[in-house]
Amino acid sequence: MAAVRPLVAGNWKLNGLAKSMAEVDLLLERILAGAQLDLDIMICPPATLIRLMADRLDGIPIAVGGQDCHMDASGAHTGDISAEMLADAGAVAAIVGHSERRADHGESDAIVKAKAEAGHRAGLTAIICVGETEAQRRAGDTLDVVSGQLAGSLPDNASASDTVIAYEPVWAIGTGLTPTEDDVAEVHGAIRSQLSELLPGGEGDSVRILYGGSVKPDNAAVLMAIDNVNGALVGGASLKADDFYGIIEVYGAK
Ligand code: PEP
Repeated sequence: MAAVRPLVAGNWKLNGLAKSMAEVDLLLERILAGAQLDLDIMICPPATLIRLMADRLDGIPIAVGGQDCHMDASGAHTGDISAEMLADAGAVAAIVGHSERRADHGESDAIVKAKAEAGHRAGLTAIICVGETEAQRRAGDTLDVVSGQLAGSLPDNASASDTVIAYEPVWAIGTGLTPTEDDVAEVHGAIRSQLSELLPGGEGDSVRILYGGSVKPDNAAVLMAIDNVNGALVGGASLKADDFYGIIEVYGAK
């Protein structure tokens, strides 16, 4: 199995004003003062901050991503933002299919797939989110739900260089709850097997699979050590430099 370079990505959601760049400056201070880190780092701020953040991080190995994109490059879609616009503003990735968008905007797997393809068209990495609700987990449907979302949302020609999968149990997002280590291992193992089947040429072996859902500095080391967990998608804890750094430093050079 190829070594997979970890990624920790922060999802700022509907949070962040220009003054929030102070947290990015603090994060940079922590990174520069700390041990050498062996991972990729990304922040996905609201679209209004992408240009500002990309300019501030120019020449610094912290990437900037969007939180969503429209499937079309341009057109009559008031309020939407295309993958091309994200790239133009300095983003290198876009989260697609986050459970909040699937729930709040009725995004189906087909829509998520089209958005991931749009991201690829614009040269962005698509971070495709999948995950079961609490009711689905209680019904014992987790693996079926996640594999259905993955099959329906993954572009046919996805590769390890343009696609990341984020497993985010909906009930763990923003709640302080996390699945057991065995549960995370089971789902990530199933996603890995499915990726290896779906993507030819061994490509599925090295697609990064992030865990997301209440990752904090105090549980990150345990979660990130689980097989086939190649990093984290972090919501609330990415808003504070100290908390985000506390997760990132799990990947400090030993
Ligand atoms: C998320 O929304 O992607 C997320 C993982 O949120 P939190 O870390 O706050 O649970």
